[in-house]
Amino acid sequence: MTKVFRKELESLKPYVPGRPIEDVKREYGLKDVIKLASNENPLGYSKKVREKLMNSLDNLALYPDGNATELKEALSKKLDIAVDNILPSSGADEMIDLIAKTLISPGDEVITADITFPRYISTTKMMGGTPIIVPLKDYTYDLEGILNHISNKTKLIWICNPNNPTGTMVTEEELMDFFAKVPENVIIAYDEAYREYVTRNDYPKNSIKFVKKYPNIIILRTFSKAYGLAGLRVAYAVGDKEVIKNINKVRGPFNVNSLGQTAAITALEDDEFIEEVYNLNLEGKNYLYEEFRNMGLHFPPSETNHIYVNVEKDAQEVFVELQKRGVIIRPMSGNWIRVSIGTMEENRIFIEKLKEVLGK
Ligand SMILES: *Cc1c(COP(=O)(O)O)cnc(C)c1O
Repeated sequence: MTKVFRKELESLKPYVPGRPIEDVKREYGLKDVIKLASNENPLGYSKKVREKLMNSLDNLALYPDGNATELKEALSKKLDIAVDNILPSSGADEMIDLIAKTLISPGDEVITADITFPRYISTTKMMGGTPIIVPLKDYTYDLEGILNHISNKTKLIWICNPNNPTGTMVTEEELMDFFAKVPENVIIAYDEAYREYVTRNDYPKNSIKFVKKYPNIIILRTFSKAYGLAGLRVAYAVGDKEVIKNINKVRGPFNVNSLGQTAAITALEDDEFIEEVYNLNLEGKNYLYEEFRNMGLHFPPSETNHIYVNVEKDAQEVFVELQKRGVIIRPMSGNWIRVSIGTMEENRIFIEKLKEVLGK
């Protein structure tokens, strides 16, 4: 049997998502469990979106608009770029997959970081490409190091800014310098899943202008994080028309479901909700920073809705011990965990249980 499967799949493992709350309740017989493991939005999603969705339940017997025309038009207006430069997808996850299918042939090299979003590497392997891993420097994407690894086989570079899981960012100035040095036949996929949470002024707030200047840049954005719509699976790419046209050839005909399209259009109009999300995240982040400092724990400063923190104890062990106490976080390698910033109450419970587990 093994011979029937593509050899590219041999080194692949299925993605391990954050553990669902119900799973943990069942295993440990707990009544209350909080999940700070998947960077989900503790505020949920916009009430305006909810209202719109409640009035959109009648048409589920029909296929969604395969072209997502209204969503593309809404995005085009909001971002000030043509409809032909935009392609919605079923989450950024699908877009990562589509980009790999569009670009990577066996033997092509794809450059990314060692500690970053894992799907960049698995989709590369899936297509028979070779991942070239450039270690983070100071927990941050090493753009200089990436430039040094470009070869005549390089097809694609993945940059996650700010980065998941370390929360760090590269500045607009550093990026502009980098973009200018990357050959035009190398595509740069620039994943901005956490852009709405960034506090620093030297972050590129308007990345759309990159696409207007460089046809080899593809921007990825999602409605799963700050917009709180992870369950509906909506994201999009912005890129050169030729690039978008080719990605569009490999996508499924109805990849974005109808409720997702409706929700995303309405979500784009609710800037107040995003502001609320930003403020709550900042408050939680400052609280967690202070508590971590009091415990003497090391962490790189985060520009996202999660913090990468060294708990000075085996992460897997801390993960299990926290779980027994009703808190789900994400164990990373060694002594590092990633915790999503929750509501203030969730943050306090997490700190209380973490102190117990670490004996602080
Ligand atoms: C969460 C996340 C994604 C996937 O988001 P979806 O739109 O829910 O598929 C992509 N990239 C990064 C860096 C993420 O953290």
